[in-house]
Amino acid sequence: MKSVEHWINGALTGGDPARTAEIFNPATGEVSGHVALASAADVDAAVAAAAAAFPAWRDASLIKRSQVLFRFRELMYAHRDELAALISSEHGKVHSDALGEVARGLEVVEFACGIPHLLKGGFSEGVSTRVDSYSIRQPLGVVAGITPFNFPAMVPMWMFPIAIACGNAFVLKPSEKDPSASLLMARLWQEAGLPDGIFNVVQGDKVAVDRLLEHPDVRGVSFVGSTPIAQYVYETGTRHGKRVQALGGAKNHMLVLPDADLDLVADSAVSAGFGSAGERCMAISVVLAVDPIGDELVQKIVERVDGLVVGPGDDPKAQMGPLVSGPHRDKVASYLDLGVQEGAKLVVDGRETPVLGGGRASETPGFWLGPTVLDHVPVGSRTHTDEIFGPVLSIVRVSSYEEGLQVINGGLYGNGTAIFTNDGGAARRFQNEVEVGMIGVNVPIPVPMAFYSFGGWKSSLFGDTHVHGTEGVHFYTRGKVVTSRWLDPSHGGVNLGFPTNG
Ligand code: NAD
Repeated sequence: MKSVEHWINGALTGGDPARTAEIFNPATGEVSGHVALASAADVDAAVAAAAAAFPAWRDASLIKRSQVLFRFRELMYAHRDELAALISSEHGKVHSDALGEVARGLEVVEFACGIPHLLKGGFSEGVSTRVDSYSIRQPLGVVAGITPFNFPAMVPMWMFPIAIACGNAFVLKPSEKDPSASLLMARLWQEAGLPDGIFNVVQGDKVAVDRLLEHPDVRGVSFVGSTPIAQYVYETGTRHGKRVQALGGAKNHMLVLPDADLDLVADSAVSAGFGSAGERCMAISVVLAVDPIGDELVQKIVERVDGLVVGPGDDPKAQMGPLVSGPHRDKVASYLDLGVQEGAKLVVDGRETPVLGGGRASETPGFWLGPTVLDHVPVGSRTHTDEIFGPVLSIVRVSSYEEGLQVINGGLYGNGTAIFTNDGGAARRFQNEVEVGMIGVNVPIPVPMAFYSFGGWKSSLFGDTHVHGTEGVHFYTRGKVVTSRWLDPSHGGVNLGFPTNG
């Protein structure tokens, strides 16, 4: 049985042993270890270590910081298989998918290696007679990241490479469901030469989150998770005077126009709907099929779903693994009956899916549910609007582009969406009219590259700054403008008027 601890000031610590939580192997349903749940005192110790380490790291040269990031990138790359195996063992996703999340996270590290360029300010010579002005951006101090279970490596890597490159000290509070990846990353930071105290990990739950949100020395909080908690984190953190970016849940629609290539659409819908068992905030969970292509498209989707191989994450033949926990699997599975009660047609029932090395999903030990397809899902039903966050693909029939757009814009969330069409004019209109933050045109999961910023609209993001890219640099720094005059023999004397340039 493994025991997962905190990482504070460059060392593992069990902290307050009063509370722990179980860690599961989702493929078997067995308990594989325990994770410490931080007390407020444990959080205080991590923040104190970060605050003590911050001044020297802030003063480290840009090149020195960038060199540490380069070394971290190389170490992470060398350990990518180990990291992916850890993710798979606690989250359940298949190894290739876990490797993919490590690769996408590493792109943010690569972006942050360019921090000397990213932190360049502006300079204006002669804003007034012999007066110059320039802008600089400085780190905030101690910043925290609170992350969800579904990307235990990538989502923290949306945050900490940029925060640390900017000169901040970071405290990560990972999901208690899959906490081990955070400790491997902490060890690799140390090996890369990052000073102790600049990257800390507190394992835990609401107790740790609440202490981070109220701690006076935490200046900024990045959060990714479900919408109710994102809203809570945003409101609580800002009430305590912090800058907060809080990314929430999603319900992503794919609008398919009749002129689209339906084989491409079916491949894309199945890949984006069932990759990582649908536990992705950018998963496609609703296909809006514009008449008259619905029946043909559903047939093509079902053909592909029937060929999917479901099995444990460490089995190279498996394309889709289990869900993260028993309660989550039960909640997702409850939508199969609810969907039918609400008027949908259950075209593929994931409870019947065979599991490699087991039997039907519903009878195999572990947190299994196979890919499920519900057709004719009524607009506005709970199956349509709730974030199910599992391998359930809903097909909604609409009569026109306008009706499809209305369905998307009528929703609570605005994380990602995609249009599939061969009509450039329709695609351009869609990107202009849709109220969503990340849009794919014939691309099903339009996750922005590291040098752009990731974030949704409406209830998918609280705060105004998206993560990573230049918005990430902006979030983890604050600006100063310096106006300077070097004394000159004719400096002009006293003048009580408001300074104007001249
Ligand atoms: P979650 O909201 O349950 O947990 C996220 C984090 O908040 C975890 O670290 C957890 O320990 C903490 N937390 C949970 N309950 C809390 C409470 N009551 N008070 C304070 N902190 C609390 O989310 P999850 O189930 O881990 O992750 C899945 C969710 O994350 C989905 O809704 C998904 O859409 C969302 N997500 C969004 C994005 C995005 O970019 N918008 C990316 C990934 C995941």
